Amino acid sequence: MSEFVEIINPRTMTAKLLLDGQVTAEYKVEQCDSCKLLLKFDSAGYQYSGLEKVLWICVNCRLTN
Ligand SMILES: [Zn+2]
Repeated sequence: MSEFVEIINPRTMTAKLLLDGQVTAEYKVEQCDSCKLLLKFDSAGYQYSGLEKVLWICVNCRLTN
């Protein structure tokens, strides 16, 4: 059975997705300003104040708010 493992490096703010010990994906993570978790980054999560990016909200918090 295949096993996915996600390894997050908070120093570089990147995450690696491993499948059976092999890196299958690498992506940027961001800290959600709502739940404070490090989660996969997507630019749709930016909350703007005028033209300035002030917060980043993860997809889970965006769906529940
Ligand atoms: Zn969140």
